[in-house]
Amino acid sequence: MTRPDEIRVRFAPSPTGFLHVGGARTALFNWLWARHSGGTFVLRIEDTDVERSTEEMIAEILDGLGWLGLDWDEGPHYQSERAERHREAVESLVEAGRAYPCFCTVQELEAEREAAIARKAAYVYSGRCRSIDPEEAARRREAGESHTIRFEVPAGDTAWEDVVHGRTAFENDRIGDFIVLRSDGAPVYNLAVTVDDMDMRITHVIRGDDHISNTPRQILLYRALGAPVPTFAHVPLILGPDKSKLSKRHGAVGVTHYRDRGYLPDAFVNFLALLGWSPGDDREMMTREELVEAFTLERITGKSAVFDTDKLEWLNGQHLSAMSGEAIAERALPWFVDEGVSSEERIRDRWAWFVELMELIKARSRTLGDLVRQGRPFFPGEVEYDPEAVEKFWKDGDQARAALAVAAEWVASQPDFDELDRMESELRSLAEERGVSAGKVMQSIRVAITGQRVSPGIFETMAAMGREVVEERIEAAREWLAEGV
Ligand code: GLU
Repeated sequence: MTRPDEIRVRFAPSPTGFLHVGGARTALFNWLWARHSGGTFVLRIEDTDVERSTEEMIAEILDGLGWLGLDWDEGPHYQSERAERHREAVESLVEAGRAYPCFCTVQELEAEREAAIARKAAYVYSGRCRSIDPEEAARRREAGESHTIRFEVPAGDTAWEDVVHGRTAFENDRIGDFIVLRSDGAPVYNLAVTVDDMDMRITHVIRGDDHISNTPRQILLYRALGAPVPTFAHVPLILGPDKSKLSKRHGAVGVTHYRDRGYLPDAFVNFLALLGWSPGDDREMMTREELVEAFTLERITGKSAVFDTDKLEWLNGQHLSAMSGEAIAERALPWFVDEGVSSEERIRDRWAWFVELMELIKARSRTLGDLVRQGRPFFPGEVEYDPEAVEKFWKDGDQARAALAVAAEWVASQPDFDELDRMESELRSLAEERGVSAGKVMQSIRVAITGQRVSPGIFETMAAMGREVVEERIEAAREWLAEGV
C-alpha cells in the first residue's frame, strides 16, 4: 500500500529511439527525486506506437539505465499491455457524460479544418457530435458505425503551478474536444499516460518541456476521472554548445555511446545532473550520494542547459582522479584487454603492479581510453613514436643519439630501479661528465620508452616499466635513430 505521503515518480520512455542525453537526464531527475525523498521510482515503457517501438530499443534503454545505475523500484510496466484498462477508462468517461462518440468522417473534419485555415484561425474541432442524443449515439455505436471517442472539454482555463515554470495556463477553447479513443479502438497518448499515472499513483511528473502542451489535456482527464492531479515539473531543453537544438553531432546519441567512449557512469550522472539543475552552491564535482542528498525540484532552473563535452571530459577526469587505483584497475582491465594491450590473465598475475600503474597515470587521464593510451607503453612490446614527440625532441639526430648514448650507459650502471632519488642524481652527474644536458637525456628517454611527449615523472615511469623493458627500448630507439633522422 502507498503511504499517503509517499512520493512516486516515473520514467516513461517511448522505445522509438535510443536512451539519449535528454531522456537520461529526465530519468535521472526522477530517480534523484525518488532517492532523495525516500520515494518510489517506477519504470514504464510507452510502447503503444507498435510500428516504431522495437524490442531492440527497449533493451537499449534498459541497458543505458543499468549503466547509469538508475535502478527502478517498480516495473518495467508496458503500456501496450494496458490497452483494455485504457478503453475501460474511456467508457467510464462516456458513461459519466464527459466523453462522447464522434461520427464525423475524415472528409467532414477536413472541411472544418480548411474553413479554419480560410479564416486564418487555429483549427479546433467544432464539437458537432456533442449534441447527438446519448441513446442515439449508443445505438449507432452498437450498429457498428465508425467513430472515435472525444473528451468534452469544459469552458474556462486549465492551469497548474509548475515547479519549474510557475503558474502555467491554457485556454480550453483552444484545446477543443480531443480524441481519446481512435476509430480502431486504440487509446490516444494523453489518455494512456493519464490513466497509467493515475493507476500507478504518480505524485510528481518530471519530464521534458516538450510535454507542456499535453499537460492541460492530461489535467482535464485527471479531473474527469476523479483522480488527484500530480505535481508537474517540466525540465527545459538541452541545447548544443552553439545554442541550437541538441543534435547527433552534439551528443544526442544513446548514452551507451559514452560508456563505449570510456566515460564513468558516476561522472556521466554528475554531468547530466548539472544540465538544468544546480546544488545552489559552487560545487560541480559531486558523487552520486552528494547528488541524492542535495537534489530538490526547486533547484531545477527554468533556462535551457547547454551540453558541453569539455565539461563532461573534465568531470570524468575529476571522478577518475578521485578513485582508488584498485577501483580504476577493475574498470580499466577490460579496456586493456579489448585494446589488445595484454590478456586478463597476465594483468591479474601482476595485479599489484597494475594497480600502481593506474595510480601513476590517472592524473593525466580523462577517460578510460586515455588510461589505455597512457598505460600501453608500460607493457612489453614495441613502442610507436608519436611524430610530434620525434619532431620536438629528436629533430636534431646527433643530439638525440648523444643523449641516448648517455641514457644507455646510465641504465647499464643501475643495479635496479628502486631508488628514484639515486637514479636521478646518478643520471645528472653522468650527463654532466659526458657534457650532455640532463634534461635532454630525460626527454630522449621519455620518447624512447613511452613514444610520447608527456608522461608521469620519468623515474617513476621507468620504475613501473622495469629495468629490462627500459633497456630494450633505449636500445631500440638508438637503432631507430641510427637509421638516420
Ligand atoms: N513517452 C513519452 C516520451 O518518451 C513521455 C511521457 C511522459 O513523460 O509523460 O516522450
